[in-house]
Amino acid sequence: MADTVLVTGGAGYIGSHACKALAAAGYVPVTYDNLCTGWREAVKFGPFEQGDLMDRARLDEVFAIHKPVAVMHFAALSQVGEAMREPGKYWRGNVCASLNLIEATVAAGVRDFVFSSTCATYGDQDGVVLDESSPQAPLNSYGASKRAIEDMLRDFGDAHGLRSVIFRYFNVAGADPEAQVGEFHQPETHLIPLILDAIDGKRDALTIHGTDYPTPDGTCIRDYVHVMDLVDAHVLGLNWLRTAGELPQGGTEVFCLGTGNGFSVREVLDHSRHVTNRAVPMVEGPRRGGDAVKLVSGSEKAGRVLGWQPHRSTLPSMISDAWRWHQTGHYAG
Ligand code: UDP
Repeated sequence: MADTVLVTGGAGYIGSHACKALAAAGYVPVTYDNLCTGWREAVKFGPFEQGDLMDRARLDEVFAIHKPVAVMHFAALSQVGEAMREPGKYWRGNVCASLNLIEATVAAGVRDFVFSSTCATYGDQDGVVLDESSPQAPLNSYGASKRAIEDMLRDFGDAHGLRSVIFRYFNVAGADPEAQVGEFHQPETHLIPLILDAIDGKRDALTIHGTDYPTPDGTCIRDYVHVMDLVDAHVLGLNWLRTAGELPQGGTEVFCLGTGNGFSVREVLDHSRHVTNRAVPMVEGPRRGGDAVKLVSGSEKAGRVLGWQPHRSTLPSMISDAWRWHQTGHYAG
């Protein structure tokens, strides 16, 4: 019988793609999601268990029913603007909820845990290419809450033998090339889906948030990773964790997932015009609060240890897969 993996946030953007990759790798992904930002229609590759991470009795029940061999934890609140306005929501919704999940994992005797963290735990690092040893100095409650969960995993590793792979990444883009699942947030704040909405008139013109940054074309630079590459890394990390020998103190291993290449907002717009062969209505606006100038992450360690290669993470490939999903797939909402 196939091994089962409990996927929190499996109804969300990255979690739903992870379920597809897990199923393709021979696992049964069990989605645990409260549907606060996810979509029931996104759960296509394994069983669905609706539940909240704050509900310990429900978590224990789901562990008992499905007997997972590992947990993949994506469920989180992830909007930086909201985190600045409502820090309590982030400390409770991310940290308290994850504590509940981690305690339930240990209580169920599950040893292996894959955690979706973020390069936002680093804060603004002056445009250097980040790696696993870059100092962490989060700028908002979102990044701080994710760092706290990383610390929690180390403590539970020391005390209870939990073993974790922690992935840190920034800008995830694109969609399943078969458009079975894709990106759909409400409200949407991310650049590429907003551009595609502007192109087909679903939304007003795209506003470029700031054109006076110290970059070659004045707009912010980001490192975009294809969501299918990203979830492949999670499956590689899970398989590695299950077979790796002794892990360092704290039982955690951190991997940054980036391409090492940065693209400006204007470059993303240019590629979008090209890929879709349509004009992109856009206006130039002021800077958005809390935006770093340049965020780029390497992935040398993920390549060396896990054999991960982000081979789909080119802008044309991410935009064309996002465009296909945009035109053919959708959830209610
Ligand atoms: N951006 C923009 N207009 C928008 C949305 C985003 O100019 O309507 C810019 C944003 O300032 C950043 C980049 O696009 O430089 C990526 O933003 P996104 O919100 O997708 O991800 P973030 O980097 O904030 O996690």
